This record gives sequence, C-alpha cells and structure tokens, in this order.
Amino acid sequence: MCQSYRKDCACGHNTGEIFFGKMVLDEQSVEQLYCPECSQDVKTDCDNRVWDNGWVLELDMDVVRTQASILGVSPQEVTADWVFDAGYVTWVGIIPDDYKQKAQERAEILKLAKTDLLAYYQAMKEWGLKREKRFTREGWRKMRVHI
Ligand SMILES: [Zn+2]
Repeated sequence: MCQSYRKDCACGHNTGEIFFGKMVLDEQSVEQLYCPECSQDVKTDCDNRVWDNGWVLELDMDVVRTQASILGVSPQEVTADWVFDAGYVTWVGIIPDDYKQKAQERAEILKLAKTDLLAYYQAMKEWGLKREKRFTREGWRKMRVHI
C-alpha cells in the first residue's frame, strides 16, 4: 500500500498524482480520473466526483463509505468533495500533474545555473512563491481551501 500513486486519465493523455492522507483510503477508492481533455462529457451533479479546474477525480463511494467512521464522517453524509478537501484522497501537489510541471520548471531554472549563478539562486527563491501565486490565480481547489 502506497501513500501516493500516479493514475492515467480516461483518455490516457495525462497523468495525475494522487495522495492518500493518513493512509486510510487507497487506490481502490479511486474509480476514474479525467483530465481537462476528457472531462467534457462528465456530469457535474453527483456526490462521487471532485472538480478542479477541468480535472475530475471520481471516487468509488462504496469503498469510501466503508471507511467513513475512520474518516470521522457518517456514511450518509460523505461526498467526494469532502474526502478531497479533508485530504484523504487528494493531489500530491496543488495541481494533479504537479510532478511534471515541477520537473519542467526546475529544468528551466537549472539552465541558469550554468550561465548566471546569482540569477539562478534568485530564481529558485522566487520560484515557490510564484507558483503559489499562479495556482491561487488559476483557482485550484487546494488553494481555495487554504484561503
Ligand atoms: Zn484525459
């Protein structure tokens, strides 16, 4: 059993990295993942899906309900939104494919290290802050929850 795992979305073009807070739930609770490319026809009005900027995390609520008492919520009340916001099944990063973006952005900054070390240090320092600001601006769910 892992604390996080990567799951391909329904169309297979993208991958999300999912984190299981306190390791109560695991990949059995994840039914499907949709990226912005394949979430177009997914219905919004149900309790088993979390929407986040076009990404959709669909949970197997039967699995979730069996663990509800451990999560501290009643089986009748638990929703995918609640599970996500409480951090039991959520993204590893702020965004689903954070690991990918992070690697790309880091590679860009690392290029600086070869030419301008001072600019590199400065860029590294600003990087985290800039990311947070951008995620807030883009309205990612995790940023909204923290505000
Ligand atoms: Zn997709």
